[in-house]
Amino acid sequence: MSQHHPANGRRVTPGQLVDNFNRKISYLRLSITDRCNLRCRYCCPAEGIEQVPHEDILTFEEIRRLVAILAAYGVKKVRITGGEPFARKGVLSLLEAMKKIDGVEQLYLTTNGVLAADHLHALKAAGVAGINLSLDTLDRQRYAQITRRDRLDDVLRTFHGALALDIGVKINSVVLEDTSDEELIEMVELGRKRPVDVRFIEQMPFSGAEIIDHLGRESLLWRLQNLFADMVELRTDTPTTARLFTRPDFKGRIGVIEGNSRHFCASCNKVRITSTGMLKTCLYDNGVLDLRALLRSGRDDEEIGRQIVDAVVRSAPDGHSAEKASRRLSEPSMAAIGG
Ligand code: SAM
Repeated sequence: MSQHHPANGRRVTPGQLVDNFNRKISYLRLSITDRCNLRCRYCCPAEGIEQVPHEDILTFEEIRRLVAILAAYGVKKVRITGGEPFARKGVLSLLEAMKKIDGVEQLYLTTNGVLAADHLHALKAAGVAGINLSLDTLDRQRYAQITRRDRLDDVLRTFHGALALDIGVKINSVVLEDTSDEELIEMVELGRKRPVDVRFIEQMPFSGAEIIDHLGRESLLWRLQNLFADMVELRTDTPTTARLFTRPDFKGRIGVIEGNSRHFCASCNKVRITSTGMLKTCLYDNGVLDLRALLRSGRDDEEIGRQIVDAVVRSAPDGHSAEKASRRLSEPSMAAIGG
């Protein structure tokens, strides 16, 4: 059955994206640029990654159309990421357009926070419910060393500003080989009096990043449990990539994202679209459908929707194997995939 879709005036076939593992896909992680204003050592080389020509990046209209198609198939939550979303001009107008799409109920943004502080009122007005803020350390020198840019103060302005406006904040904090216990303790303290999730992330190996040997490292969870013996795991019914913990007298939560060592495929409900329009059903696949090619070859929404359904069903991963998860990702950077 076809139905009129108000977002673009075309007809799409509504339904629910379900893969052959019976997982309902309701979450889209959408990268709008491969450009970034930081050069995090674990993410990319000092000179950055080779930039995709502008004409290869999806236009805002193409992005809006794809989101409308996916929303008609049950995607309710959209997270805008990059690269750095604020490195693309007009991100606020894109967010406003996203929120107006029928079916999009939750809009989120992942940002490094460097340029976001002055736009928080606009984010709130655009209906952004929360931000994931990347922040690996509270030590200014270390921050500059890790990101190769001295911008910690700007990020903290975003952090405090977002909380003051009641914009939800989750911190993404990659734990590096040389992250000290003191740094971890300081990061965790951010969640003591604030309703903030402080989520520690295991490093994943990308081909463009500095080489870091993961083997033989004690697990991140083990380390945190040793530091915070009073951490208690929370059970959650909603799909989540992080294992969540609380502590006594703690307002926020501690999250652990074991991207490298844990399989969370069974609870995964998301697909990704890269800035060049590749549909990815798993961080570890190389793209399962070239949406840009479909858009630019004049296919209508119904046809694109059908191809997305086929691709999702066809390519459902059965759990990324330990071998797959521990190999160096062939992409040069998380910025190329959309983190
Ligand atoms: N620029 C935005 C930001 O910094 O939040 C969005 C894109 S960034 C690629 C998204 C997330 O990916 C960040 O939290 C970053 O720390 C994480 N990331 C990048 N490279 C990673 C790696 N090698 N291992 C784990 N996380 C990584």
